[in-house]
Amino acid sequence: MSGTETDITVRQLIGGMVDSTSGETIPVVDPATGDRVGVVPKGSTDDVDRAVALAVEAFPIWSGCSAHERAAVLHRLADLIDSHGDELARLESIDQGKPFSLARDLEIPRAAANLRFFADAVRQTQSEFFDLGTQGLNYTLRRPRGVAACISPWNLPLYLMTWKFAPALATGNTVVAKPSEVTPLTAHHVAELAVEAGLPPGVLNIVHGVGDIVGRRLVEHPKTPTITFTGGTGTGAAIASVAAPMFKRTSLELGGKNAIVVCEDADLEAAMPVIVRACFQNSGQICTCGSRILVHRERLKGFMSRFLESVAALKVGDPLDPETDLGPLVSESHRATVESAIARAVSEGGTLAHGGGRPGALPDRVQGGFFLEPTVLMGLDQGSDTNQHEIFGPVVTVQGFDHHGEAVARANATRYGLACSLWTRDLERAHRMAARIDAGMIWVNSWMLRDLRTPFGGMKDSGVGREGGEDALRFFTEPRSVTIAHRG
Ligand code: NAD
Repeated sequence: MSGTETDITVRQLIGGMVDSTSGETIPVVDPATGDRVGVVPKGSTDDVDRAVALAVEAFPIWSGCSAHERAAVLHRLADLIDSHGDELARLESIDQGKPFSLARDLEIPRAAANLRFFADAVRQTQSEFFDLGTQGLNYTLRRPRGVAACISPWNLPLYLMTWKFAPALATGNTVVAKPSEVTPLTAHHVAELAVEAGLPPGVLNIVHGVGDIVGRRLVEHPKTPTITFTGGTGTGAAIASVAAPMFKRTSLELGGKNAIVVCEDADLEAAMPVIVRACFQNSGQICTCGSRILVHRERLKGFMSRFLESVAALKVGDPLDPETDLGPLVSESHRATVESAIARAVSEGGTLAHGGGRPGALPDRVQGGFFLEPTVLMGLDQGSDTNQHEIFGPVVTVQGFDHHGEAVARANATRYGLACSLWTRDLERAHRMAARIDAGMIWVNSWMLRDLRTPFGGMKDSGVGREGGEDALRFFTEPRSVTIAHRG
């Protein structure tokens, strides 16, 4: 990492640590202070072409290594991430605005866990075998597909980047990764650690820059047959329109408008801290965060008084302060977008039950940051713009419902279908409702209870495909079905 924490120069990983051929840079801003802390290269299409060429060259060597050899390198990288955990967490916090403790205790350890999980998985996978009786036998070979383009967003920068490149590399693909230009710092540091871990040159490349140049070129490049993307639904549609006619394989993890359903028999005592986290962790900037709470009308009053009390106790402030629950939003422009969503909610008849503005008293160090209060809105029906569009900030609405069929219908009444959190003590009801809710992930009496073996992803406009476990191993490999006839 070159420069101090207030003067960081991010570099690309293309064969080694290099600058962009464009010579241009984009400022990196700490959203907690509004100060510039460094620069990231504004990568060019030439940078992408060079990275892809190196990845193509490295593919036969890397894919020719045994699963054990590849796993050993990924384990070394995971160990290095762990041993640089505090440093990486600090960078993630400065870059994205998330509380340092969240990055240190959850997101950076998860980046290391992603690498270990897929390294171990490929050492233990089996292939299908079909006994065709007297006719013969059949087995499936799964081979890596070549160069994988891994495009990731700003909300969980290292967590999501490793979620993509770990299975790609473990299965023998080479990678060109493109982190968000908004949060490039941990990607830069991990690039240095990847070199230290002994990843051969060209196997993992990281090209920084804007989506319209670097991302677009990666998608349209003829030598990137596999594209894994996490980001907005609009960007996903743009990527699909380029990739589909080129018959590329895509995994698209997109936006959401997730419901939290609280039934009349929910254990509110246990639910409350989880629901508050589900709404406001990382200032609501997690794709699985709940943004519409649907509460059985019998419990609405009790729910609201507990919920508002818990929300009022949340501390908005300096992300480096261990007491902080909510840091700033990722950028000034994103805060402006969220503020205009709140103004729209009020103009369409919503009432503010909590928040809605910028917090008053902030410590001196973070006076220039892009903070927003946790915001709770009521009085908006499911058809309102507020309940239809993703806001991706610390904003939730609360609606009442009278029966479970209505709750399911409302939960499903958006273009999205990513996640849902359902609260009830009745297991039969939980099974019944979970089977009818159109979401890729349904958490009963929990939220973000994750096991890396389970499929992660959404339906409808929340995405195409699933990541995690077996789904990821299959996504990054091409099956060849081999049938051998018995003779005689
Ligand atoms: P975004 O779509 O603006 O950008 C995501 C990435 O795509 C960035 O690296 C960006 O530079 C790149 N990009 C932009 N235009 C591109 C193009 N034309 N071609 C190729 N790449 C391009 O998203 P964001 O603002 O960084 O992230 C927020 C969004 O991500 C939210 O909608 C959120 O719901 C979604 N998200 C989804 C998941 C999930 O798993 N479903 C997880 C996290 C975030």
